[in-house]
Amino acid sequence: AAKSQGRNRYNVFTPSMQDAAQKRMRLINDLRVAMAEKQFSIHYQPIVDLRTGQVHKAEALIRWRHPVEGLVSPADFIPIAEETGMIVELGDWVFREAVKQVAAWRRTHHPQFQVSVNVSPMQFRNEGIDQASWLAHLSAMGVPGQGVLVEITEGLLMDAGHNVSGQLQVFRQAGIGLSLDDFGTGYSSLSYLKKFDIDFLKIDQSFVRNLTTDPDDMALCNVIIVMAHTLGLKVVAEGVETPAQRDLLAAAGCDYGQGYLFARPAPAGEMPFALPMAGLNRP
Ligand code: C2E
Ligand code: MG
Ligand code: MG
Ligand code: MG
Repeated sequence: AAKSQGRNRYNVFTPSMQDAAQKRMRLINDLRVAMAEKQFSIHYQPIVDLRTGQVHKAEALIRWRHPVEGLVSPADFIPIAEETGMIVELGDWVFREAVKQVAAWRRTHHPQFQVSVNVSPMQFRNEGIDQASWLAHLSAMGVPGQGVLVEITEGLLMDAGHNVSGQLQVFRQAGIGLSLDDFGTGYSSLSYLKKFDIDFLKIDQSFVRNLTTDPDDMALCNVIIVMAHTLGLKVVAEGVETPAQRDLLAAAGCDYGQGYLFARPAPAGEMPFALPMAGLNRP
């Protein structure tokens, strides 16, 4: 029954199982098993240069294939992994896999290829990321810090504790880039953009969705792009699904696009390394 409702929904939450605590326990237990039995994989989605159509970056997105339920959306299990602390181990695994993959792409495809890895705020808390071991893994794989972007969210930058700024500084000093995910949905304090030396802003897909019909969304995208460029940041638009959205963003000077128009997240072997920018004409 769970599967018939769409491959991305994991209905631990079936109507017959009303006990919230019980559902939660089952998901937690299944996640533990999943870690032990390596039921995870990573899909990659290209981040496309809107001027050239070239793909020199990709976002790593975790996937869980549950033996019974099928594919489970990260939106359903990342929150539980965060609450239970399992996100630390899971996040380590994603980072290590993604670095291995980018090492391969830098050899076979483009020497400056970058992989963008989502890192949860929880991973910056106590007993979170072992940064020394992340950097050691990079050098073991022969990948410089420049091969990795860490995607963080606005909320993290507001966290005054946990030495967040010191940890981000360690990444920066290693050459690792910082990307601000879902920009515009959190408590966007513009002073943080300067303070934390961010490299990329990712405009949240909620601003892109109605770009062609809602002048307010177009205005917001324009303002974000101009502001980012003024501060020396590059901009990635998320959730680009149509050529019209792509063209408006490109005309507004947006640097990169990511979305189903170009490619859905897919196994590494399916990565498209260049995408047509048909009819695109910009200054
Ligand atoms: P995100 O980092 O903002 O990732 C973008 C999400 O948008 C992905 O959902 C992606 O599949 C989806 N997407 C891409 N293009 C389009 C499009 O054109 N239209 C629409 N409607 N959606 C699009 P996904 O893979 O389900 O991941 C959801 C969220 O789960 C991610 O949002 C991220 O916050 C989190 N996540 C995924 N992988 C990881 C991970 O390895 N670690 C952590 N901490 N979080 C992760
Ligand atoms: Mg992301
Ligand atoms: Mg996002
Ligand atoms: Mg900068």
